[in-house]
Amino acid sequence: MMKNIILFGKPGAGKGTQAALLRDAFQLVHISTGDLFRYNIGNNTSLGALAKSYMDQGDLVPDEVTIKMLEAEVDANSDAGGFIFDGFPRTSKQAEALDEFLHGKEMRIQATIALEVDEEVLIKRLLNRGKDSGRADDQDEEKIRNRFEEYNNKTAPLISYYIAQNKFHSITGVGTVTEISEQLIALLDSL
Ligand code: AMP
Repeated sequence: MMKNIILFGKPGAGKGTQAALLRDAFQLVHISTGDLFRYNIGNNTSLGALAKSYMDQGDLVPDEVTIKMLEAEVDANSDAGGFIFDGFPRTSKQAEALDEFLHGKEMRIQATIALEVDEEVLIKRLLNRGKDSGRADDQDEEKIRNRFEEYNNKTAPLISYYIAQNKFHSITGVGTVTEISEQLIALLDSL
């Protein structure tokens, strides 16, 4: 069966790492809107310049450009056996746009899974990651806290959106990468 999965979680919860493992386990195409924005920034596109002004502050990039970019990426992978969405949707508007877009292609989301980690643990993880990755948004505690605030205000409400569709699951994001990926794979296998 085709699987289209959304990975939820606060910044630093491990979405990117786990999405890459699920991609390999289930032969999915991994789409990370954060990676797409960083790719655009690296290539000095106008989309990159626009996104950077928001990302540097830890604010969400506006829905319209984010949704357009996501849809173009799905269309560019029309032969995919399924998708793992990492960092999208992050607002109600994005979630509704995604449902409508997939519906138009006779596709749908099978499951959304949240990786749960406490904010204080995440701050330590992100500050550490920032040392290696050079990501500006990972190097400043103020910006990290703003990203949590964006998540709590704009993304957390999506939990009830997906609960209402019977598609919401959550697992702990604390443990080794392997432990967590085994739990994720077991959960997806059980669907
Ligand atoms: P991430 O790599 O997922 O942590 O995303 C890094 C940054 O990219 C976020 O803090 C936002 O500024 C921006 N971003 C990524 N995905 C989205 C999205 N779905 N909606 C709005 N902004 C996003």
